[in-house]
Amino acid sequence: MNLMTKPNDLSALWMPFTANRWFKAHPRMIVAAKGCTYTAADGRTLVDGLSGLWCCGAGHSRPEIAAAVAQQMTAMDYAPGFQVGQPLAFELANRLAELAPGNLDRVFFTNSGSESADTAIKMARGYWRVKGEPQRTKVIGRSKAYHGVNFGGMSVGGIAGNRKMFGGGIDADHMPHTLLAANAFSKGLPKKGAEKAEELEDIIALHDASTIAAVMVEPFSGSAGVILPPEGYMKRIREICDKYGILLIFDEVITGFGRTGQMFGADALGVTPDIMTLAKMITNGTIPMGAVLATETIYDAFMEAGGPEHAVEFPHGYTYSGHPVACAAALATLDVIKSDDLVARAAKLAPYFEEAIHSLKGLPHVEDIRNFGLAGAVQLEEVPGLPGKRAFDVFQKCWDKGAYVRCGGNTLQFAPAFVAETADVDRLFGIVADALKESV
Ligand code: PLP
Repeated sequence: MNLMTKPNDLSALWMPFTANRWFKAHPRMIVAAKGCTYTAADGRTLVDGLSGLWCCGAGHSRPEIAAAVAQQMTAMDYAPGFQVGQPLAFELANRLAELAPGNLDRVFFTNSGSESADTAIKMARGYWRVKGEPQRTKVIGRSKAYHGVNFGGMSVGGIAGNRKMFGGGIDADHMPHTLLAANAFSKGLPKKGAEKAEELEDIIALHDASTIAAVMVEPFSGSAGVILPPEGYMKRIREICDKYGILLIFDEVITGFGRTGQMFGADALGVTPDIMTLAKMITNGTIPMGAVLATETIYDAFMEAGGPEHAVEFPHGYTYSGHPVACAAALATLDVIKSDDLVARAAKLAPYFEEAIHSLKGLPHVEDIRNFGLAGAVQLEEVPGLPGKRAFDVFQKCWDKGAYVRCGGNTLQFAPAFVAETADVDRLFGIVADALKESV
């Protein structure tokens, strides 16, 4: 069936984070994926500028991961994870605990970044309850942050458009973001603005530390267009959290497993959180999975307050927490990350990527370019009264010219696969440059 010529066949699907009416009038269909490229339904090859949705750093359709998934599907398709276990979940938890920085060595499995965010929030609030401070329920996030779409993450997140349709959320407040005009066109972490961290002190003073469970931040905000922490900012956030005994949660759904050129954003910034969320690249995007890592201290607090031994200490979990097929995919992904030295590959390609993305400076409507590791964003001037329109138009032009890039708000976002070659980066930014030159 050629879906391109049968638009009526597109009617049943309510597409996520998509302009459904526009898509159904102008379908952009992907039918195959290999390495750093997609094949479109019309037969064209497109360079993948975002590793899927920041999740396929090892390249698409890796045979090693496919084989592990296929084997697991026939050996044990599913086993429940409540009150019984299966070995792959324990093996994967041990592997993640070994990789993670600091004492983040207790691992809880979820199925997505959004579930990881809400699990982390529940862990933080539950922690204070079992410690005898149940009034610590508030979570402090940041303006422009993205922590997924479930109610906890949505509330702590700071993207207005994702919140306003859905009414009240959980108890949260927000620090300002760190997108400063003074840092426009910075390469890597911006130099100015570490003092923005001090605004956390004001928020703590406003609510009183005794009401705050946690501060939740992304090492860098990906979905809002690679908004980076100024040098020294995150260390200061850690110090302020420590001063008031507030837990620090890093949402590493995008930054986990190499995107920054280090295994985790925490490693790249030299700051270790108390709780870390993961998803996306944990299975190279093949099978939905997420994880939340917590310190032994947090885990032990639940165990110590857990009552009789048969009682459930943390009443939370998903039917598919630690799904055996997802675990098989994740274990195979970790093997590929190691055997292909993918984190070092990302770090090696990062300077080339930096030069390539900054070569777009001076093209029409480009008002900022930001990058860190293998992540980058180009910010475009807003068409008056039509936020997001210009980036959306450029995204479409790129699609027509042979590149998949992501538009979000007024930004174009880039995250090539760690296995990309310099030629892939050249092709990607060549297409983006052409599209920008045509942009009105
Ligand atoms: N947290 C962060 C930092 C993200 O970037 C994302 C997705 O982009 C999420 C959470 C949500 O992940 P998911 O779409 O898997 O629910």
